[in-house]
Amino acid sequence: MSSRAIVPITCKEYKPTFDITSGEYYDESPVNKGERNSIIYICPCKSGSNLRTRTQFIKHFGTDHHKSYLKKYSNIVENEKNEDNEKNELKKEIEFLKRDLEKKDKKIEEKDKKIEELYIIIVHIENIIGVKIGNPPHSDCD
Ligand SMILES: [Zn+2]
Repeated sequence: MSSRAIVPITCKEYKPTFDITSGEYYDESPVNKGERNSIIYICPCKSGSNLRTRTQFIKHFGTDHHKSYLKKYSNIVENEKNEDNEKNELKKEIEFLKRDLEKKDKKIEEKDKKIEELYIIIVHIENIIGVKIGNPPHSDCD
């Protein structure tokens, strides 16, 4: 195999690193010096920023566009967390409503079954007394 073998390339979004001590985000190249990398990092600060080498990262981190992005990054993360929480709350609410609907559907099914049973009794009584006293269930719904 030659040294120019085709290596599959993957794309990954670059994310700043969180510093627990300061509570702030900072830039750190995910690629070490001299490291051969088959991952292309895309920084969300600017479309078309494909980063593959440490040198490209260092140069990119120095751009005004990226510096501005890094300053806003904690707000972006916070907004994403809030959106995720909101989505989770909505998912829970939907699940609750689905269960509630299933319970109500089951109750309706049980009541329909009871109505059918009562109608059979009514028809039986009508046959005994020879007088029609009721309409079939759901005859007014058609
Ligand atoms: Zn960037």
